[in-house]
Amino acid sequence: MIQLERKEDCCGCSACEQSCPVSCIRMIPDEEGFLYPEIDKNTCICCGLCERVCPVINSDVNSDESYDNAIAFAAWNIDENLRLSSSSGGIFSALAEKILKEGGIVFGVTYADDFKSARHIVCDSVTDIGKLRGSKYLQSDKQDIFSLVKEALKQGQTVLFSGTPCEIEGLKHFLQKPYDNLFYVDIICHGTPSPKLWAKYVSFRESLAGARTVNTFPRHKKYGWKRYSTLMVFSNKVEYLETFDKDLFMQMFLQDLCLRPACYECKFKKLKRESDLTLADFWGCDQVVPELDDDKGLSLVIVHSERGRRLLQDVNRNGQVKLVEVDAQQVLVGNPCMLYSSKRPERRDEFMNNLDRLKIPELAKAYVRQLTLVDKVKRIVKCVAKRILNKQVIDQLMKIRHRLI
Ligand SMILES: Cc1cc2nc3c(=O)[nH]c(=O)nc-3n(C[C@H](O)[C@H](O)[C@H](O)COP(=O)(O)OP(=O)(O)OC[C@H]3O[C@@H](n4cnc5c(N)ncnc54)[C@H](O)[C@@H]3O)c2cc1C
Repeated sequence: MIQLERKEDCCGCSACEQSCPVSCIRMIPDEEGFLYPEIDKNTCICCGLCERVCPVINSDVNSDESYDNAIAFAAWNIDENLRLSSSSGGIFSALAEKILKEGGIVFGVTYADDFKSARHIVCDSVTDIGKLRGSKYLQSDKQDIFSLVKEALKQGQTVLFSGTPCEIEGLKHFLQKPYDNLFYVDIICHGTPSPKLWAKYVSFRESLAGARTVNTFPRHKKYGWKRYSTLMVFSNKVEYLETFDKDLFMQMFLQDLCLRPACYECKFKKLKRESDLTLADFWGCDQVVPELDDDKGLSLVIVHSERGRRLLQDVNRNGQVKLVEVDAQQVLVGNPCMLYSSKRPERRDEFMNNLDRLKIPELAKAYVRQLTLVDKVKRIVKCVAKRILNKQVIDQLMKIRHRLI
């Protein structure tokens, strides 16, 4: 039976709940709004399946293979509207469309009707892709989604499952065997914020607007992809649009105040992933492929399997997606979240403990660090130095590695 000694040891994938043969596990939100397994010990038959499917217990931290095999692409959707309404270059939409047009189904994350929570759903038509498009910056509720994937696979349907790396590994352990008709697509993940904080934030904005939310998109590109903004639209037609560095929720997210405890010690940070493809923002593209940087959104796609490569090639061949191969080592410099967990701020727990007591502006005032001019200069210098050093360290490692082989 799963026994959680530390919250850091549960990524909330729900593989344990969904695999329990006697349904004695339920995912229950804690005081921070994150779901954790709760076990009815009276019903439990101690079969141990929950432990066998847990991706954290069974994580293989040494599984990262060489950098040498990694293939990476700069990629973008040629449909400008799709690209602009996606977080990065709109590659997910192209992959999903291909699977759906060939009669398959696609699993991904959508908001609930009130936009206060997010959950995994299944889509079986191209017109539904919009529900999955765009990043939702909160952890999704998986409910019985892994069981639905299994059912579809058994019926021989082609399935594309998208999610965070821990969700991919949770599903893989849940299924316990490989399926030829399943594509796994994960993302480079900064960490997933508290659903409770997100819901509180939506309510806060609704109280200011005086109406309920009818749409939200945290990666609006009005001021560019790199200066992305949170857009919220309310039922009285009021709109809220603020860049990530000023929006209070994004400040809390990007300063790592509200991530799931497991995200600070993520076991799935590695270059060689369990997925077929990893999608990400191509941060740092100005260093690697400056000629492609038009600030409308560029994806980084890292290929982990032959079937992933074929799927990507198909959407390239049908003309929907443009690809330019890039050096996977160079790419890591601008995307540290591929390999490293976000750092847990000292005041993270204090912030979360005050979630119920303080209002959103009070939380921001007490915990969000505002950058002074000196901070900004320091940050730029640090960033430039880090890039140069990272590049040198990676180059050195590669040289040593090649000498050893
Ligand atoms: C919580 C989170 C953190 C991220 N952190 C980084 C990062 O540090 N660096 C980086 O380069 N990229 C990060 N990304 C990925 C990036 O924002 C894009 O999602 C990715 O590049 C795909 O973009 P796209 O334009 O191809 O498709 P889009 O249409 O923008 O992406 C949609 C895809 O994202 C999935 N998705 C949306 N919300 C969630 C969620 N809450 N949980 C799981 N899957 C979700 C959908 O199911 C769908 O597969 C993060 C995404 C999320 C959701």
